[in-house]
Amino acid sequence: MSVTVEHHKNLIGGEWVDAAGGETMEVLNPATGETIAEVPRASAEDVDRAVQAAKKALVEWRETTPGERAEMLLKLADALDAHADELAEIESRNVGKPLSYAKDELPVCSDNIRFFAGAARVLEGKSAGEYMRGYTSWLRREPIGIVGGIAPWNYPLMMAVWKLAPALAAGNAQVLKPSEQTPLTTLRFAELAAEILPPGVLNVVTGDGVPTGEAIVKHPDVRLVSLTGDVETGKIIARTAADNLKRVHLELGGKAPVVVFDDADPAAVAEGIKIAGYWNSGQDCTAASRVVAGPKIYDKLLEALVPAVESLHVGDPAEGDEVEMGPVISKAQQDRVFGFLERAKGATVLTGGGSNGARGFFVKPAVVVDVGQKDEIVQREVFGPVVTVQKFSADDEAIAWANDVDYGLAASVWTRDVGRALNAARKLQFGTVWINDHIPLVSEMPHGGYKQSGYGKDLSAYSLEDYTQIKHVMAKID
Ligand code: NAD
Repeated sequence: MSVTVEHHKNLIGGEWVDAAGGETMEVLNPATGETIAEVPRASAEDVDRAVQAAKKALVEWRETTPGERAEMLLKLADALDAHADELAEIESRNVGKPLSYAKDELPVCSDNIRFFAGAARVLEGKSAGEYMRGYTSWLRREPIGIVGGIAPWNYPLMMAVWKLAPALAAGNAQVLKPSEQTPLTTLRFAELAAEILPPGVLNVVTGDGVPTGEAIVKHPDVRLVSLTGDVETGKIIARTAADNLKRVHLELGGKAPVVVFDDADPAAVAEGIKIAGYWNSGQDCTAASRVVAGPKIYDKLLEALVPAVESLHVGDPAEGDEVEMGPVISKAQQDRVFGFLERAKGATVLTGGGSNGARGFFVKPAVVVDVGQKDEIVQREVFGPVVTVQKFSADDEAIAWANDVDYGLAASVWTRDVGRALNAARKLQFGTVWINDHIPLVSEMPHGGYKQSGYGKDLSAYSLEDYTQIKHVMAKID
């Protein structure tokens, strides 16, 4: 059966347009390797058109009240809910994630938007006061202007929402670039947004990191670039942005430790890792990828973990609801994951690691032991369904190993002892620490990294503040 290839355009200034040079690029279904869509390959010229449209829109958008913006965002959340099944189906096909999992993400996306709609209305500067005799000072919290959003491929729609909702709620206009591999839900969502938002407030351009993303980062009228992506991409963007001192907001990779003390329940930990280590085929910046377990629980944990991981039903999400894990995003990503396993000399792969048939970019979920703290597979983000398990000998060693990576996005600690849990949570150098769970996030709480996992927060009022700047107004009053 031949696959229908959809043709898409970019949203610039409320119009759907091809790339100025007419260039296109293919989008694949990673479960089959087949081309399912063609999207514009936007150039620097296209990015400039989008920025000019955003600039024009900002004139009026800046005059809107938080209440007016909130109303539009609430309509956007309603539109997303009304099209949830359709968006989930597109996400499942483009990312290769199980349909039921994609469906679970949609209410989270609309809740994120509703949170920012409400938060926009309570955003405030410090109260005014007289800090010098004869003068009154007050603070204004203002939008930054045109914000460039650059999103990754693992949760395409959710990451687009994390970029656009706080930016627009705060009164900015946006030029958004989805990942070249997974632009389809963002483009469909932009169709819904185009019915609600004034033209030019949200513009979507598709294309590769270079030249499309780079053109956003280099554009002098873009005042902030918000990236979710790889650490190396974050470094390139920060360097490029330095040329015109553009602000950067960076949500980068992770290598989350799962610290399991001897008094934890091995069955509960295994079940937690089965979900958090392999969710979205392990392509999650907070994935539970690195277990450090106590000497007494180590064997029991592996006895529970290996069969739990082997029970995961891996396949093409189109096969049905029984599929719990799909492919990784591309052939290049599949090769990258295999490369990590091949280079892990001396390690023992207890289960998984191979491909899952000839079609699609599958990696069987793997559990790897006999690894050292300095091994590449322990130190670097694999971004695939691979979990390493190490045995520590004392609590201090567990915390030291957990912290001994360049990343600092998320971590979890598993124990029945409250004091031990809180002490570990205090010492772990990560932006999120879970106790006896791993992975849930909420709209009200910040998500973002320590160390090389980046700076700036997503979600919460802290994210909204990141999309504003503070102005001091000082008036002579006598
Ligand atoms: P990536 O860095 O390859 O790409 C991310 C985006 O950056 C894409 O849109 C890409 O086109 C763009 N890009 C690439 N090079 C660029 C350049 N020179 N200039 C401007 N834009 C450029 O990342 P990915 O492979 O799509 O996503 C996976 C990564 O994202 C992982 O490292 C993962 O941990 C991270 N991630 C982090 C979070 C978080 O919240 N911290 C969430 C999801 C994913």
